[in-house]
Amino acid sequence: MSRVYNFSAGPAALPAEVMRRAQAEFRDCNGTGMSAMEMSHRSKAFIAIAEQAEADLRELLVIPANYKVLFLQGGATMQFGAIPLNLLRGKNTADYFRTGAWSEKAVKEAQRFCAVNLAVDTQAGNYTDIPDASEWKFSKDAAYVHYTPNETIHGVEFHDVPEAGDIPLVADMSSNILSRPIEVSKFGVIYAGAQKNIGPAGLCVVIIRDDLLGYMPEGYPSLLDYTAHAKAGSMLNTPPTYAWYFAGLVFQWLKDEGGIAAMEARNIQKSRKLYDFIDASDFYSNPVAKHCRSRMNVPFTLAKPELDKLFVEEADKAGLKNLEGHRSVGGMRASIYNAMPEAGVDALIAFMQEFEKRHG
Ligand code: PMP
Repeated sequence: MSRVYNFSAGPAALPAEVMRRAQAEFRDCNGTGMSAMEMSHRSKAFIAIAEQAEADLRELLVIPANYKVLFLQGGATMQFGAIPLNLLRGKNTADYFRTGAWSEKAVKEAQRFCAVNLAVDTQAGNYTDIPDASEWKFSKDAAYVHYTPNETIHGVEFHDVPEAGDIPLVADMSSNILSRPIEVSKFGVIYAGAQKNIGPAGLCVVIIRDDLLGYMPEGYPSLLDYTAHAKAGSMLNTPPTYAWYFAGLVFQWLKDEGGIAAMEARNIQKSRKLYDFIDASDFYSNPVAKHCRSRMNVPFTLAKPELDKLFVEEADKAGLKNLEGHRSVGGMRASIYNAMPEAGVDALIAFMQEFEKRHG
């Protein structure tokens, strides 16, 4: 099999070591003679896998005991609706940061359930910056504050956790969870779709402070109720068992690699290399303000946009896959999550240099 580097934004490349281990265990997991995919979710063998995965995630993120960890389905998109339902707690306003395409979607979904105050809104500037905290406009009676620490499409990342006082802070960490240490106690809820830094699509991890449980109003499906999920140990119905197992392998890999601090060091190194190269060139550019550039998703444009298609095609032939930008913004985007080795970034930069020589 030829070696490729997959720069997809998600579902994204998974660590090669984890893929090999999953392959080795595919038909006989832990000596059971069964694939993890074939086990009853209530079996001893699967419960052991599920508990280990949760314990490893708790260790990696240093999750305090008063937080529940849920392994759910429905993706981050289902949480866009579940968050207001579970967290409004009788109030009717929530504060949102609209800083890119994903928070824009979260806002739209929340507006079905409550009044949304945009404490931060960078839509008019095409989501290329985050204003200083002195300009944020929180409302007086918000049930919670929601933000998207990393905007996967626009390549905008918060490098500090917003200060929301006593109001529960909710974060859609889909595209940067496990890429850097976080202080979980600063958050009321953290949620993340798995298909970038956790594992295969189909799983969404929700980390929720336990005093926020118990407020789901009547009249909604129980599958949207975090309290019901927490009580049932995420087994209210059949969970996405294989994705949960696979996430567990990724968590073990992260521990073997030195944990989240080691990942952060690598991610700083990889993203700095790529941004430095882009900034030094007249041919490539990145539109995002330097203080809030993403370490995970690096969008870039060419001085000659008519060459976008050729760039993506030639890169693909060179084994550099999925570099086209999101259909809503165009240009190119390199997603460089935990599983992308530095050699992949080096190969991309070498290709970009060579492409510029021929076309610049
Ligand atoms: N939030 C962010 C930040 C994302 O990047 C994505 C997916 N790319 C989503 C939400 C939506 O996730 P899902 O498709 O799993 O619902």
